[in-house]
Amino acid sequence: GDGDALLEVRGATKRYGGLIAVNDVSFSVQRGEIFGIAGPNGAGKTTLFDVVTGMVRATSGEIAFEGVSIARSSVHAICHRGITRTFQKPSVFDSETVMGNVVVGAHFGSGKPWWKSLARDPGVWDRSAEALALVGLSDRADERSGELPVFDKKRLMIASALASSPKMLFLDEPFGGLNDAEIDALLALLQRINREQGITIVLIEHVMRALMTLADRVLIMDQGRTLRQGDPHTVMTDPEVVRVYLGSA
Ligand code: ATP
Repeated sequence: GDGDALLEVRGATKRYGGLIAVNDVSFSVQRGEIFGIAGPNGAGKTTLFDVVTGMVRATSGEIAFEGVSIARSSVHAICHRGITRTFQKPSVFDSETVMGNVVVGAHFGSGKPWWKSLARDPGVWDRSAEALALVGLSDRADERSGELPVFDKKRLMIASALASSPKMLFLDEPFGGLNDAEIDALLALLQRINREQGITIVLIEHVMRALMTLADRVLIMDQGRTLRQGDPHTVMTDPEVVRVYLGSA
């Protein structure tokens, strides 16, 4: 194995009946790194996230976080260890306030049932306020989340993930549906989260500008398998990668 890896995935495989959504995928992510995952629709990127974060059980393969196997751990146990994710579709509790959403996220990292940590962990409030400030939403804390524009919902989802104090953040297409100015703002935010908070980031992304700006290394998936893996420039100019992308366009 890779001595310094924060996360190590070996031979991850997920079958759905006859379909192999993720097929023998291996990669490792170093502490402090930004690791990108790309590939055409249906390549298995989200399923790979589901497997690593414990939302679905891998059919086979090994996953180690800080040297400890998490392949059979629950979502909560994995979150408590320090892995948190966001979803492709902005998923917030619409009827809840902005601060309310972040507080819910903060409880997931506490390792206790949320109704217990609410009363007993005063750190929850501080972590929530800090996370809201970091993403630039402090002044909307009391607003109803459902009424936020898409970019603010996405920032709220990130704040909610940050409030659980993760070591590693998994972001599923965070740049999707954003305009150029919003892409710039999110690029700066993710760089701050990575550099200032020391949080390791794994992101699935179709927006090439974002991937090329952020990622130290990228993994390209196609039909469940690893097509290429390496530094972004080499990988994204690889003829086979270009062919797969054009073929799916
Ligand atoms: P996209 O870019 O469109 O989000 P993706 O690379 O994230 O695609 P996945 O969503 O992981 O791809 O899907 C990979 C394959 O697994 C697809 O063929 C999909 O239909 C299938 N799949 C995913 N989840 C399930 C499930 N719960 N049951 C059955 N098949 C599934």
